[in-house]
Amino acid sequence: MRVAAIIAAGGRGERLGAGVPKQLLPVGGVSILARSVEIFAGHGLVDEIVVVLPAELAADPPAGLHAGAKPLRVIAGGARRQDSVRRGFEAVAGRADLVVIHDAARPFASLSLVTRVIEAAEESGAALAAVAASDTVKLAREDAAGGAVVERTLPRARIHLAQTPQAFRTEVLAAAIEAGRGIEATDEAALAEAAGFPVRLVPGEASNMKITTMTDLTTADAVAGGPGARVGAGYDLHRLVEGRPLVLGGVTIPFDRGLAGHSDADVAAHAVTDAVLGAIAGGDIGRHFPDADPRWKGASSLAMLAHAAGVARDAGFEVVNVDVVIVAERPKIAPYADAIRAGLAGALGIAVARVSVKGKTNEGLDAVGRGEAMAAHAVALVSPRG
Ligand code: MG
Repeated sequence: MRVAAIIAAGGRGERLGAGVPKQLLPVGGVSILARSVEIFAGHGLVDEIVVVLPAELAADPPAGLHAGAKPLRVIAGGARRQDSVRRGFEAVAGRADLVVIHDAARPFASLSLVTRVIEAAEESGAALAAVAASDTVKLAREDAAGGAVVERTLPRARIHLAQTPQAFRTEVLAAAIEAGRGIEATDEAALAEAAGFPVRLVPGEASNMKITTMTDLTTADAVAGGPGARVGAGYDLHRLVEGRPLVLGGVTIPFDRGLAGHSDADVAAHAVTDAVLGAIAGGDIGRHFPDADPRWKGASSLAMLAHAAGVARDAGFEVVNVDVVIVAERPKIAPYADAIRAGLAGALGIAVARVSVKGKTNEGLDAVGRGEAMAAHAVALVSPRG
């Protein structure tokens, strides 16, 4: 089964502050949009991702959207949400067996919720996450003075509040979109309902909040810094020798010497790999990638780092952020720092905003200072995944 994810971020005019579109505002230091993309980048059942943005943003997409090894496309949305999703669907319809749609404004959906909605849709054709109402629900009408009065109380036990993700078998979504051309819908489940398809309810999550107000944004910021985080440290050093390329964070840097060692001897990637493994008490680079193992012979250090991030995910953690200090007398690291950040972030499957890279010299002291070697220190913070 091939699964495509559509991230609906086509909203315009909903601005929470400072003239920045809502989906680009940071929560815990990472944009709401990048967080929502990461959910699907890190999900084992999802094969490709389409992000639907307002046309002006799609023409100049924000930096830092990463889907690891998965294809990620940014396309321009339409006037209404349903038009945006239709365009996203047209971009994947020929290849996907199942489409999962998610509002970018819900950056905290758990991987397990995405799994449950996909599995329910695979079985029944259409499914959505929804939470049972806990408050009593009043249906209101306008009174003569223009105020609101209660018309009646709805039976709470049957009230469910729709969230995303919502998932559909491709043929169901195609028929629902076609049938729904003439109606206004605020979610895709409504189109499927209108077209007569059964839509399965999957228990949603209170934590899967939709960020629409400034108060929501403050709450989300607090949630993003939640408990259960762990840190790990990493260190590595390689000799500088003639006749080798210098590779840092997967970036080949022009220099008269390179680092000696197995593989590409990427000292930055190695330090981060050890930091990630250290954060989950998962051993070290030597244990996971022994020199004698033919599986890793000739592999790039970024592939090893991506594997370590996968080990952390399998252990129930996601990487929150990474900070790296590269100690080298020459060359200067600063001009390459952003490229190195992007390389490391891509391997980790996280937003570039979560990765910091800094360069230091050793003031001419010891082997690093004499230019005989290069070292790297890294710390990684991980937190439990939902
Ligand atoms: Mg090493």
